[in-house]
Amino acid sequence: MTRLQADYVIGGGGVAGLCLANRLIQNGVKVILVDGTPEAPQASPHAGGLLNPSAESYLHDPNLTHILQLAFSYFKNFLTHDMPALSEDFDHNTAGSWYFAIDEDGRQELMRDMAFKAQLGFLPQEYAPKEVLKQHPHLNHKICASYHMPYEGHLNPILWHQHLLSALMPSHSFCYVRGQVKEIHASDSKISHLQVVQQEETYEISASQDYIFATGVGTKQLNDQLQLTSLIRPVKGQYLILKTESPLLQESLRLYGRYPCYLAPRHDSIYVGATQQERHDSDIVAQSVMELLYSAQQILPELSEATLIKCGVSHRPATPDNKPIIGRWLYDNAVIINGLYRHGILLAPWCAQFTLDNVLSINQSQNPLVTCLAPERYLKKEWAS
Ligand SMILES: Cc1cc2nc3c(=O)[nH]c(=O)nc-3n(C[C@H](O)[C@H](O)[C@H](O)COP(=O)(O)OP(=O)(O)OC[C@H]3O[C@@H](n4cnc5c(N)ncnc54)[C@H](O)[C@@H]3O)c2cc1C
Repeated sequence: MTRLQADYVIGGGGVAGLCLANRLIQNGVKVILVDGTPEAPQASPHAGGLLNPSAESYLHDPNLTHILQLAFSYFKNFLTHDMPALSEDFDHNTAGSWYFAIDEDGRQELMRDMAFKAQLGFLPQEYAPKEVLKQHPHLNHKICASYHMPYEGHLNPILWHQHLLSALMPSHSFCYVRGQVKEIHASDSKISHLQVVQQEETYEISASQDYIFATGVGTKQLNDQLQLTSLIRPVKGQYLILKTESPLLQESLRLYGRYPCYLAPRHDSIYVGATQQERHDSDIVAQSVMELLYSAQQILPELSEATLIKCGVSHRPATPDNKPIIGRWLYDNAVIINGLYRHGILLAPWCAQFTLDNVLSINQSQNPLVTCLAPERYLKKEWAS
């Protein structure tokens, strides 16, 4: 048994845990991060990497849209101030993104959605398809509606996730433990330590300040102990990665219609995402692969010549109201950051700073979003099952 101690212990090394570790270390405290269990699903490296704050406008939840907008503005800050050395290196682009339709149903849906977005203060710009095709000759010439949304972008989450971790590793204030949080030990209302298992080895890890659980969909055992099982539901997403001879896209794009999809360019490939089903399994289903391929080559016909290099699957951690959960929960010294759902890549840096400013004892301030994101919101009558 090895005993370790730090100021803060973080369970979960997806983007949420890594961004929080970054912010904590910059505030001069010691952090142990536990991750790397093969049993637990991990969403971050599987994401499309779209940074699209307008994406949930159709849900008519002003708080959610506001949070996504704050997260988009903060992302730039995080890159320039907190990760300056990394900004060029992970297919990052904030030049905006495109929205297209190639048939009448898609056109109507697209126009409705753009009207919602405009009402919420986003600035979709309509372009004549002919003009767009002059600039982007690889697109399907049947495009019948096209909009450009500034202040959106994308990055490559695999590289981003690796960079976040490798930026932490050299710090003497950071310790990475590869393993699974198996047991939470508590006395009275406080966690005393976590039992972490790594193959044959067992660790007893304790925090002098707080334990932060950023475990996404998580393991069943941990979710049961943290009473998160009914709050976090996995939403399955299948995606494809296609390698093309030459780059076909600079900005990400989204196709509306019967078979919707989005495409996110990477330096040597294109990510085609993603299905969305309320399911726990990790099967690669032929129908989903066919639909994604079909819609991808509908919008970029040359993709039918591309090499299919990956069919991937993962699960988004979603909450009952689709908003993140950030706050103290169950024990006086336990904090949850979860439910980043479909926008964790975009949200994680902002959630980390929000946690630091409003939940941990480092910089306490009064922010009305604290109640909106606190896990206690689900204890209210309307959420009771
Ligand atoms: C197909 C798909 C496409 C997506 N596209 C986008 C997109 O375009 N843009 C965007 O912003 N977001 C996107 N997302 C959402 C985004 O990926 C997630 O919201 C985000 O990755 C969640 O990050 P997280 O750190 O909370 O969770 P995760 O990345 O899942 O990390 C949780 C970590 O906790 C670890 N863990 C769990 N239990 C334990 C335990 N008991 N002990 C130790 N470690 C544990 C896991 O191993 C994992 O590493 C997409 C997601 C999917 C699945």
